[in-house]
Amino acid sequence: MSGAGDVRVTFLGGLGEIGRNCAAVEQDGQIVLLDCGLMFPDADMLGVDLVLPDFTWLRENAERVVGCIATHGHEDHVGGLNYLLRELSFPIYGSALTLGLARGRIEEAGLLDRTEFIPVTDGERRQIGPFEVEFIPVTHSVPHGFATVFHTAQGVILHTGDFKLDLTPVDGRLTDLALVGAIAKDEGVRLLLSDSTNADEPGHSRSESSVGDVLYDLFHAHEGHRIITTCFASHIHRVQQIADAAVAFGRVVAPMGRSMQRNVALAREMGLLRIPDASLIDIANLGDVDPAKVCVISTGSQGEPLSALALMAAGQHRWLKIESGDVVIMSSHPIPGNESNVSRVINGLVRLGAEVVHSGISDVHASGHAKVEELKTFLSIASPEWFVPVHGEYRHLAAHARIARRMGVAGDHVVVCEDGDRVVLSDDGLSVERRAVPAGYLYVDGIVGEVSTGVLRDRQVLAEEGVVVVFVGVDVATGAVLTGPEVITRGWVHADEAEHLIDGCRKAVAEAVAGAFEAGGVDIENLQRVVRRAAGRFVNHETKRRPMIVPVVMEA
Ligand SMILES: [Zn+2]
Ligand SMILES: [Zn+2]
Repeated sequence: MSGAGDVRVTFLGGLGEIGRNCAAVEQDGQIVLLDCGLMFPDADMLGVDLVLPDFTWLRENAERVVGCIATHGHEDHVGGLNYLLRELSFPIYGSALTLGLARGRIEEAGLLDRTEFIPVTDGERRQIGPFEVEFIPVTHSVPHGFATVFHTAQGVILHTGDFKLDLTPVDGRLTDLALVGAIAKDEGVRLLLSDSTNADEPGHSRSESSVGDVLYDLFHAHEGHRIITTCFASHIHRVQQIADAAVAFGRVVAPMGRSMQRNVALAREMGLLRIPDASLIDIANLGDVDPAKVCVISTGSQGEPLSALALMAAGQHRWLKIESGDVVIMSSHPIPGNESNVSRVINGLVRLGAEVVHSGISDVHASGHAKVEELKTFLSIASPEWFVPVHGEYRHLAAHARIARRMGVAGDHVVVCEDGDRVVLSDDGLSVERRAVPAGYLYVDGIVGEVSTGVLRDRQVLAEEGVVVVFVGVDVATGAVLTGPEVITRGWVHADEAEHLIDGCRKAVAEAVAGAFEAGGVDIENLQRVVRRAAGRFVNHETKRRPMIVPVVMEA
């Protein structure tokens, strides 16, 4: 157990997966949250819209939560706030852009009265709960992200946020390594928590501005053709570079897709995106312009099935029909798990006659996360006493731990944690409590629906094996079978074989029911078990499959 003056960091998500980042930093009984994100589901999470951190522990400690720091505006960092705010109420701290990006969903959910948005600026120091917190600028694939410094009773905890060391960022706002160095030198970094996403990628990530050069060349090469581009809607710097290339070649820019339109408006309003009014048109007016003088910037870079680009690829978009000669530039890279969706979209576009340029063909994308050499640089400057890799699948965390040891962090001071683990900093050093809090996946289906793992398992069985429903109507008193057994199946066997198998199944169930009545002492409930077992045994024996068996036994 932790004592007075200890500082605890509890990892609620993001350690073991890319997504649903959430940590709780705690001192003197007060909890400051660091991000609250969502994760997009894998293909095997059937019917699940998104995955959240397990909020059980936060719910139980609701009155101790004094605020949440949003490191940057990506969904894997702020996309869970509109769920947590249903149950808890707390202020959110972040850069003005981060708060602007986070605000949309919170507003849609009608939860603005549950929170307060408190903007913080580069290099600012302010008291949040028990900590003096400092916000250090970092470069990433969304502008105005922060590394966060907690000045605690146990020294400095430094969390990098998502970062890369881009020396020529589009907005000139560099990762402030000098400030990190000054803190390391003056107070020392007691504990470093650092982004592991690219910890198994050698070398140095490319600068975002190098993508601009590639885009310029592509626009030059494809003069005379309509150009449709796609990237993450929050990647304001990428949008800027696409717009710059478009304007340089005399094209007008048409943002497409709800989040693209919203973010372009937001970033222009904040002065973070410069597109002249005259170079911007509404997608509805696309028909008035020479296609060769148009650049569409669309959502759907991950092949999301209902996105603008996916609709274009399916020939179903209201304002834009892909034609032979169109050029589609996908300025993105598929996130693991999205490859098949992206591939489907590319196939659709090519089938309609478009030429598709993607990251497999040309350098139209640069990662927003530090690779090995950048992680080493950060470690050497921060020179932490303790190190816990964060933001990654297990293999990324393990790779980052190896890098830290190579960079001279003592072997037993490098700790690989997983979701639900907690580290405690005390005068004696750092200790780990494994699985200190519940940290399973919280599956969300629809607007508020929580899906249990039981429901998900049922969906998997239904998807993979199908269902066999057996109806029997009985008179329990006399032991007579009055109707059935009737067998109805979906997704179990091919129709040709079904008839003979269904016949066999009915016989097997009828025999089992007759046997149960002979043995005596039956009721509806144990008849259901008898029916399920008989049908299951038959089905498994005949087809070597395990569909879901649903026995329906009724008193007729
Ligand atoms: Zn992230
Ligand atoms: Zn990010």
